[in-house]
Amino acid sequence: MLEARIPSGPIEQKWDKCRYEMKLVNPANRRKHSIIVVGAGLAGAAAAATLGQQGYHVHCFSYHDTPRRAHSIAAQGGINAAKNYRNDGDSVSRLFKDTVKGGDFRARESNVHRLAEVSVNIIDQCVAQGVPFAREYGGLLDNRSFGGVQVERTFYARGQTGQQLLLGAYQALEEQIAAGGVTMHIRSELLDVVIVDGRARGIVTRNLATGEISCHAADVVVLATGGYSNVFYLSTNAKASNCTAIWRAHRRGALFGNPCFTQIHPTCIPLSSEHQSKLTLMSESLRNDGRVWVPKKQGDTRAPKDIPESERDYYLENRYPSFGNLVPRDVASRNAKEVCDEGRGVGPHGQGVYLDFADAIHRLGLETVREKYGNLFDIYQRITGEDAYNVPMRIYPAPHYTMGGLWVDYHLMTTIPGLFAGGEANFSDHGANRLGASALMQGLADGYFVIPATVPDYIASTKLDPMDTSHAAFRLGEAEVKDRISKLLAINGKRSPDSFHKEVGKIVWDECGMARSDAGLRKALARIPELREEFWHNLRIVGNGEELNQTLEKANRVSDFMEIAELMCVDALHRNESCGGHFRVESQTPDGEAKRDDANFSYTAAWEWKGTGQAPELHKEPLAFEYVPLSQRSYK
Ligand SMILES: Cc1cc2nc3c(=O)[nH]c(=O)nc-3n(C[C@H](O)[C@H](O)[C@H](O)COP(=O)(O)OP(=O)(O)OC[C@H]3O[C@@H](n4cnc5c(N)ncnc54)[C@H](O)[C@@H]3O)c2cc1C
Repeated sequence: MLEARIPSGPIEQKWDKCRYEMKLVNPANRRKHSIIVVGAGLAGAAAAATLGQQGYHVHCFSYHDTPRRAHSIAAQGGINAAKNYRNDGDSVSRLFKDTVKGGDFRARESNVHRLAEVSVNIIDQCVAQGVPFAREYGGLLDNRSFGGVQVERTFYARGQTGQQLLLGAYQALEEQIAAGGVTMHIRSELLDVVIVDGRARGIVTRNLATGEISCHAADVVVLATGGYSNVFYLSTNAKASNCTAIWRAHRRGALFGNPCFTQIHPTCIPLSSEHQSKLTLMSESLRNDGRVWVPKKQGDTRAPKDIPESERDYYLENRYPSFGNLVPRDVASRNAKEVCDEGRGVGPHGQGVYLDFADAIHRLGLETVREKYGNLFDIYQRITGEDAYNVPMRIYPAPHYTMGGLWVDYHLMTTIPGLFAGGEANFSDHGANRLGASALMQGLADGYFVIPATVPDYIASTKLDPMDTSHAAFRLGEAEVKDRISKLLAINGKRSPDSFHKEVGKIVWDECGMARSDAGLRKALARIPELREEFWHNLRIVGNGEELNQTLEKANRVSDFMEIAELMCVDALHRNESCGGHFRVESQTPDGEAKRDDANFSYTAAWEWKGTGQAPELHKEPLAFEYVPLSQRSYK
């Protein structure tokens, strides 16, 4: 059933070969076809603008009031590309290899190579749009380094790279909106995907301002709806980010790839109160210059300035001398958890490690550090009240990104023909651990270059009967969406959607976060269905469905989080190996490092929905590593 459609031939020729063999749609025929793009973040805006420019009728949907509010705007640190401007040994092959290895050999080689190839074009595209990447004194684009690599290939715009890239994509999208190629539907939330004769032919949406439910038909549907880290309740994602679009597609038959692969980012501001509803990222770029340490002694509550050098443990530099503070995220997170579990954590709850800039300020000068990271220091100051130029930052790992998502083939098509997924919404090219600055690269690769090539091929090679929303499948989808909303409103119980969300989030964080065990996952799998049952009997929503109702919006999303949380635990339980950031306590090396089990788990797990409370069915896409030989990762 799982046909990944990987082109034959040498890896460096696969994408060219695929593009050569794909069918095209004549410019005069393009206007006869309509495409729905759900999502206007980097992946969605790039895809909608490019397909609009090609001449298709594009309808772009977002639950935000403007594409500029998509979560992509929050991305701070940078975007990778194999330009080798530093002449420090980088190349497409090097980026490819770093990404396969960084993902702990759980990604598809062919996709990763394409990503590395296309990375070069992304920078040219964005520079042409006027994205103000940081430049060196002489005017050349500047680069810095991110975790898991030994070259400097990360392009950045201070600590606001996502914002600047999104403005570039937004400009391109606005141009198409003005030209009539794209119709923008804001404040419209996808609540179902409509399938006709086995193909995706449209969507059902709810207008968040008026409550109106409407149907939209098209020849192709593209989902670029972001990731589901908010399943944990506390994460670095925008509060509204959710899994509803991909989850509803999953319920309609799209297989879900590696749901338990989530990324816990090592450098976030630690939790300061149990009433907190959001965590804040401190970009990984800070680890270029900041040094991570904790006191050598357990329970040492002295102020950092009173702890002499000889009593500090720069544990990353000591344990991983080759990569030091720039080990990949999974390694940095796991080590932070370990030293805190040993009782050496710092800060009010002992759940923190220091990220210290004293040496960098001494070496580079205060002004240079301010220039590079000023806005991040400002964010830190506003949230903690501490001045990180004078006292080390305190950081702790937090949920940040989801490598899992809808399973897609090489063309980025899901298992439902005509339904494509791009950006963080698909199960992506990052395997079990995404390297820093690679999500923006993937989102823009999918949006500007891959989807605009593969969607036309689908249109050109498929007989698509004319379709409109009078078809019975739309009536059925609409009725089901209305019915679900009525059910939610009618429960009239006692608990808020947030309280359920918080509880399910804590379960997945405790049992399916950085460390997992057979017993813990079984406990979670016993508790989540009970909680879901309670949700459908004890939820309270105030207001009604025919108006702006944010409690209803949340309830709808939380109902999906309840289901995806269970699938994450099922997936984690079956994957009895440690890989990437997922430390399975039963699978470790004698010195406590994560131990993969390639003989049994060298595959992508793609799960099929069988109904609420029913065991999902596992499908496997075997992974072959022909170009980057399988090896145990070592950053020592
Ligand atoms: C704080 C932070 C910093 C980061 N920094 C970096 C970085 O420096 N470098 C890097 O490479 N990556 C970074 N990342 C990751 C990166 O930002 C994201 O992976 C990426 O921006 C996701 O883009 P996207 O287009 O896939 O989705 P998003 O930007 O999340 O966009 C999703 C879109 O889908 C719409 N949508 C979602 N669901 C629905 C629905 N049901 N109906 C209608 N519309 C819907 C939303 O309105 C939105 O327009 C960071 C992430 C965080 C949290």
